[in-house]
Amino acid sequence: MVKIAVIGSCSIDLTVEAGKRPAAGETIIGSRLIVSPGGKGANQAVAAARLGAQVHMIGCVGDDAYGTMIINNLKTNNVDTGYVSVLPGQNSGTAHITLAEGDNSIIVIKGANDLVMPKHIDTAWNVIAAADLVMLQHEIPLPTIDYIIGKCAAAGISVLLNPAPVQPVPSEWLDKVTYVTPNEHEAEALYPGKTSEEILLMQEERFFMTLGKAGVAYAKNGKVHTVPAFVVNAQDTTGAGDTFNSAFAVARCEGRSLDDSIRFANAAAALSVQKLGAQGGMPYLKDVERMLGECKK
Ligand code: AMP
Repeated sequence: MVKIAVIGSCSIDLTVEAGKRPAAGETIIGSRLIVSPGGKGANQAVAAARLGAQVHMIGCVGDDAYGTMIINNLKTNNVDTGYVSVLPGQNSGTAHITLAEGDNSIIVIKGANDLVMPKHIDTAWNVIAAADLVMLQHEIPLPTIDYIIGKCAAAGISVLLNPAPVQPVPSEWLDKVTYVTPNEHEAEALYPGKTSEEILLMQEERFFMTLGKAGVAYAKNGKVHTVPAFVVNAQDTTGAGDTFNSAFAVARCEGRSLDDSIRFANAAAALSVQKLGAQGGMPYLKDVERMLGECKK
């Protein structure tokens, strides 16, 4: 069984639907509240576990009701939470989303996600060191990510860095990790002034650029290849990138080729966009295998 350690954020998304956005000083009545688990770290952990990996989540929550919800949701999805620390007196990470007039406005409160420190990495080191791959994103403090990348590089542990949300990061990171999976905006932030093609050619078989419904681009033998996405009726693309990353990680750890891994990950992500919510549509292994089997016929 493939072993994956995800070190990152765990949050609760609080989405309010309303007919319009309230103006400053105005109170309005909304139509619906949707409370759903999120955070890129937890999303990727759940996606990898549904695809059959043995997954350890490493992160922090507060000692509030949301922290309990986050941990219960991870457990329900077969993610090990032994190294999710509950921090006394802290709030769990939350995203406050207003969905009005067909658009999202979001306020993120980092809460306990901003308190993931090197000591938490050291405490969980036995499971991190035993993992086939470590998955990282940009929703915990950058100095902690720096610490993880340095420690994993020194120990020869493979790392997939999903550099989202956009942040400029030290260029040494990009040389020390095994895979980097930016979208176009994130890639530009990593290499300001370079085109997507230039970036991919500089990082052959290491950078995999997700392009939404256009699929994924990467470079091999001096050429940029695009693996097209599956054509589906998308309902909600939240979590598509997280699903892609985990599926790619699982497939690579299973020994699939780069092209096969991308195709597997594109299929998983295409399934995820057909249902609402970041985790709502994340597929199980059998769903992805069925989709790939049907596409071969
Ligand atoms: P993104 O983070 O938006 O670039 O999406 C990540 C991956 O999800 C893409 O590389 C595709 O494999 C998949 N994906 C995203 N949007 C769609 C869509 N509308 N239809 C099919 N696949 C999608």
